[in-house]
Amino acid sequence: MTDKFRLGLVGGIASGKSTVAGFLRDRGWAIVDADKVAHEVYAPGTDTVDSIRSLFGAGVVLPDGSVDRKALGTIVFSDPEALKRLEALVHPATRERIALRMDEEAARRGKVVLEMTLLYRWPEMASKLDSVVGVRCPDEIRLDRLVARSGLDRAEALRRLAAQVAQERILAPAAHVLDNAGTVDDLERGIARFL
Ligand code: ADP
Repeated sequence: MTDKFRLGLVGGIASGKSTVAGFLRDRGWAIVDADKVAHEVYAPGTDTVDSIRSLFGAGVVLPDGSVDRKALGTIVFSDPEALKRLEALVHPATRERIALRMDEEAARRGKVVLEMTLLYRWPEMASKLDSVVGVRCPDEIRLDRLVARSGLDRAEALRRLAAQVAQERILAPAAHVLDNAGTVDDLERGIARFL
């Protein structure tokens, strides 16, 4: 792989994307995490926060003026229509920031990874990437790992897993898919082989 490379990283919730991103970071890659960029859009004082308050009520905004992501998450993960309304608001603002960050990191670091579950909905970005790698993991294992990682109760974790589109759809942009049903070491060997 050359010194200049834009790699996409996709996978469902708790499939192991961040773990793969960590391996890549250790190998000198810059990481653009779409979720983290989306959080920035929720910072106090943005137009997006005002719009979210109008749509979902004052209960989803914290006293410091930022969005209460936990409260918002509880609403949208159990209501697909609410999730759509939220996404229509947040996605354009997030995409603009992501594209900017990708260009900055590519110029500065050369090798950059875009970690983004919803890349399949953004073909314009996918077509700008040199390759896309996916992480696949069986639902039962993802559920266990999600509970362990988040401390959510099992029923809520299951709801979040079920609210997401099927893994195969998320993995559609991936030219190469890593299996993460095994150990973390297996996963690391998989990404090393891919590189
Ligand atoms: P994602 O970023 O796709 O949501 P993570 O990389 O955060 O997924 O993985 C979900 C959780 O499972 C994390 O707590 C992570 O440390 C753990 N995990 C990931 N891969 C493995 C594995 N092969 N074996 C055990 N735990 C794992």
